[in-house]
Amino acid sequence: MAEKLMKYADAVKQFDPVIGLETHVELSTNTKLFCPAHVEFGGDPNTQLTPVSLGLPGSLPVLNEAAVDYAIKLGLALHCEIAEWSQFSRKNYFYPDMPRNYQISQYDKPTNGNGYLDVELDDGTIFRVPIERAHIEDDAGKNTHVGGADGRIEGADHSLVDYNRAGVPLIEIVTKPIEGVGDRGPEIAGAYMRTLRDIVRALNISHARMEQGNMRADVNVSLRRNPTDPFGTRSETKNVNSFRGIEKTIQYEIRRQAAILNDGGEVLQETRHWDEASQTTAGGRVKSDADDYRYFPDPDLVMLHITKEHIERLAAQMPEMPRERRNRLQGEWGFSDLEMRDVVNADALDLIEATVASGASAAGAKKWWLGELSREANAKGVSLEELPVTPADVAEVEKLIADGKLNDKLAKQTVSGVLAGEGTPAEVVAKHGYQVVSDDGALVAAVEEAMAANPDVVEKLKAGNMKPMGAIIGAVMKATRGQADAKAVNKIVMERLHA
Ligand code: ADP
Ligand code: MG
Repeated sequence: MAEKLMKYADAVKQFDPVIGLETHVELSTNTKLFCPAHVEFGGDPNTQLTPVSLGLPGSLPVLNEAAVDYAIKLGLALHCEIAEWSQFSRKNYFYPDMPRNYQISQYDKPTNGNGYLDVELDDGTIFRVPIERAHIEDDAGKNTHVGGADGRIEGADHSLVDYNRAGVPLIEIVTKPIEGVGDRGPEIAGAYMRTLRDIVRALNISHARMEQGNMRADVNVSLRRNPTDPFGTRSETKNVNSFRGIEKTIQYEIRRQAAILNDGGEVLQETRHWDEASQTTAGGRVKSDADDYRYFPDPDLVMLHITKEHIERLAAQMPEMPRERRNRLQGEWGFSDLEMRDVVNADALDLIEATVASGASAAGAKKWWLGELSREANAKGVSLEELPVTPADVAEVEKLIADGKLNDKLAKQTVSGVLAGEGTPAEVVAKHGYQVVSDDGALVAAVEEAMAANPDVVEKLKAGNMKPMGAIIGAVMKATRGQADAKAVNKIVMERLHA
């Protein structure tokens, strides 16, 4: 049965939403967190293993130094206090994808605590998201349930377990309760997640691809009547793996909880899951308290000691952060705030930078990625990066236009050819014989024909009314199957008018 929902606008008028985000980022180290098993995406099941990742008796964990350095760098980027001493604990629970029956995670002594991340919202305001901690832990393996409907365990006749992911290093970034979001909760969470993704990529510590599960978030939402009231009971929607999904989850939970509270009911403290198909969250299990995990320090691991000198060494290697980079690129490209925000929202910053690096103008690069190519990506339901066209292709097309070898129309056809897998722009142009007709007799003839066929237009042009020029150009384009150079047509018409 569909759940009762309050209109979003009414819900945020009557209640004050509080949000908490727990984001898992999978680190791109070569090996696992506690053993030298190689980590690579897409390997055959159960080929990236050691006795440690299988939790075999007698195997002992050894901490991966690179993972610690990655965590410290992220801690620095999030303005965290980096603990001189941190500790790994066992989080005990039984699940077939975790052969040790405990996860190794940081509990009361995480490496990074107490930071913040400033995120820029659509209207340019900066919102500060407070960070509780960013701790290191290892991932579980992956269960596949076979025989049931859409991979669910219900109705399956057997299950397969792949331990390749078991032991892969994760950092979990936990926000403090985010207060004061008003009606902008979804937007703030989306901006936070995107900024975090950009930082993680800039640091080169994770591929941070949400669709591959490198980054996923648990979304906590609660409501209270007044900002001065104590926090309300939260729901926790687990493992949401798209930015849109996170925004929608928050919006949905606010509407659902508002309807419950408005009817005098109580919100259940439970885990839920986001269902993309129905665009709703559904109840899961009633939430257990942290105590249920019987956390205790892992006796196989010594405490982690991080010296000031080590932190300083890493601090000196920090790359330019996304917001500084954005500001620098905006200056270099001469884009307005609005244009820059469009670029960022379209996830086109890297692509435009690469296109400009391949020789295109910033305006030219933006025109393609935010125009034609965004439309194509939307229609196909993929990201710009996933389109079968590279920044170098786009730069090549721009060069062909600048050299007068293609006009706008032919350029679009060339890009379509590249998208259709016909090869590089040069190959597509050669294959179809695309060529701008600019100054030969054919063009002059086509122009004269068009003028003869449109005497009324010519009269207007002669009288100084240039508006109907498009009609002549259109007729010439038609006659030359789109190969005419509009500038050249313009010039020939002007010459004829004043002859
Ligand atoms: P757990 O492991 O039980 O989910 P954590 O403390 O690790 O608990 O994470 C809970 C997340 O939810 C944190 O981001 C926290 O800031 C946030 N949070 C805690 N209480 C509330 C609340 N009442 N409403 C919204 N978010 C909350
Ligand atoms: Mg949680």
